[in-house]
Amino acid sequence: MDTIVVGGGIAGIAAAARLSAQGHAVRVVDPGPLGGLAQTLEPLPGWRIEAGPTTFLGRSRAVFELLGLLGLSEAVVPLAGGARYLRRGGRLRRFPFRLAELPRLILGLFRHPESGPSVRDWFAARVGDSVAEEVVGGLVTGIWATGPESLEMESCFPSLFSARSLWAAMRAPSAGKGTFTLRDGLGAIGGAAAVRHVATTADVAERRGDRWVVNTSEGALEAEALVVAVPGWNLREVCPWLAVPEFTYSPIVGAHWLSPDAAFPRGFGYLAGPREGAAVLGTLFTSSLFPGRAPAGLVAGATLLGGTRDPAAVELSDDAVRDRIATEHRALTGRGITLDALHLVRRPRAVAIPGPGHAARLRELSALPTRFALAGAWCGAGSMDDAARSGFAAAHRVTA
Ligand SMILES: Cc1cc2nc3c(=O)[nH]c(=O)nc-3n(C[C@H](O)[C@H](O)[C@H](O)COP(=O)(O)OP(=O)(O)OC[C@H]3O[C@@H](n4cnc5c(N)ncnc54)[C@H](O)[C@@H]3O)c2cc1C
Repeated sequence: MDTIVVGGGIAGIAAAARLSAQGHAVRVVDPGPLGGLAQTLEPLPGWRIEAGPTTFLGRSRAVFELLGLLGLSEAVVPLAGGARYLRRGGRLRRFPFRLAELPRLILGLFRHPESGPSVRDWFAARVGDSVAEEVVGGLVTGIWATGPESLEMESCFPSLFSARSLWAAMRAPSAGKGTFTLRDGLGAIGGAAAVRHVATTADVAERRGDRWVVNTSEGALEAEALVVAVPGWNLREVCPWLAVPEFTYSPIVGAHWLSPDAAFPRGFGYLAGPREGAAVLGTLFTSSLFPGRAPAGLVAGATLLGGTRDPAAVELSDDAVRDRIATEHRALTGRGITLDALHLVRRPRAVAIPGPGHAARLRELSALPTRFALAGAWCGAGSMDDAARSGFAAAHRVTA
């Protein structure tokens, strides 16, 4: 069977790789390089940065399966990682809780009270407002660049949601531990996708008779089956005939820098929840995480700015971003920082926000035409694993 996959991010590649492995003919339509958000860049010789995702978890079964299909299993490397910090009360803390919060926290492990639909509601009902807003608020900032009140618990933390109590979730068998990446960066995923790439933008895709037709500026493409794996915000343009819900996205600026005198501690990095009022969302300590990706003698980092709390940050000039990084570094370490190089990746629509009602809206999207499927990280909580899983499910759907 011949299939067109519109969108060549991880979701589209997973669909295409699975279909190809089953002997089907596949074309992937995408104006950009394959891999979508997952791109590894080299702004200067010896300095390699991730312009999108950086790591995946050991429990990401679909990602491991995809890497196997692409012949990349040998390139998977575990990350030493080290300490993860939370900016709380203007300081970096490895243990983010206050003493006064501990009794409620311990009791909260076993409680399963009724709560509202948001991540904030769910945690506040169990472990209290301050932990829900400041600690969980920091954690979710690193994934969705928004506050816990804007996120749906069922969509963002499905295992925790169905386990109901934190203790039950902690005791559930874990699918895999640790944090991983690819030796040469996650951009290798797009490079390893041995599929036919049609480098153009798809306009409207529609059903004509028993064929799917994808209109592009290069002409119309036809196939028996169609997988649409574009970001949620673009779905309406490609499939105007589909009752697509409104998707909200967080804007993020990734500010990648090199410095001879950065004084951040070693470790994974830190996050700053909305209550901190910080000028940044957090910083990945890239040099500690990925040894060998920065020129000798320099420390590399990636500071994230923007999110729903500061959407205008995507418009900031390089100098304004430099100032923010310097102010934040001084606030946290008491020292100045020299930035020898700065490379900004501005994404006005970076990450889909699974807000309250997201799971129900996705369920409504399940009645789809024959030989047609949707894929994308937005089909789940937004991770690479959600993207890969949705791609495999789409391949299964169009061939079933
Ligand atoms: C800064 C950042 C950091 C992240 N960090 C992590 C992380 O560490 N770990 C993790 O698991 N996840 C992370 N994520 C999320 C992860 O990047 C996504 O889950 C995943 O890459 C999404 O893949 P996708 O295929 O769904 O979408 P995309 O990668 O967005 O791919 C969609 C593709 O569709 C194409 N397209 C759009 N419109 C059209 C059209 N009309 N015609 C043809 N093609 C079209 C686009 O060009 C794009 O290539 C991060 C995201 C960002 C932004």
